[in-house]
Amino acid sequence: MDIIQKQPTAKGPAEWFTGDVWMDPIARGEEPSRVRVNAVRFTPAARTAWHAHPVGQTLYVTEGRGLIQAAGGEVTEIRAGDIIRTPADEWHWHGAAPDHFMSHLSITEAAAPADHRQEPTWGDHVTDAEYVASQ
Ligand code: MN
Repeated sequence: MDIIQKQPTAKGPAEWFTGDVWMDPIARGEEPSRVRVNAVRFTPAARTAWHAHPVGQTLYVTEGRGLIQAAGGEVTEIRAGDIIRTPADEWHWHGAAPDHFMSHLSITEAAAPADHRQEPTWGDHVTDAEYVASQ
């Protein structure tokens, strides 16, 4: 058994996020497990860039109100208690609503060793126009 003491919270890099996003790693499985669990906190209007997960993603919203959109789909409000499952390779973004903080757990798996894609694959930032269009 390991008890891992709380480590300093890391700021999400501007390359991958718009606004202030803070992350705490929760679980990183050792092979054959490839599970990755991260607690992510978004300040109001902060959001990820567009991205896709090679093995999909489950989000569990633990606090606040947020927004999520899959490519070609509607922007949808998400709230504490909601669970969002994103299929492998589906491009999407997620973040806080304009006037609310939002926290979620992100549950993903690293790509298989023979699959050299990043987890996740990152694309363009969600522009203010795209974000405002969601209102
Ligand atoms: Mn995602």
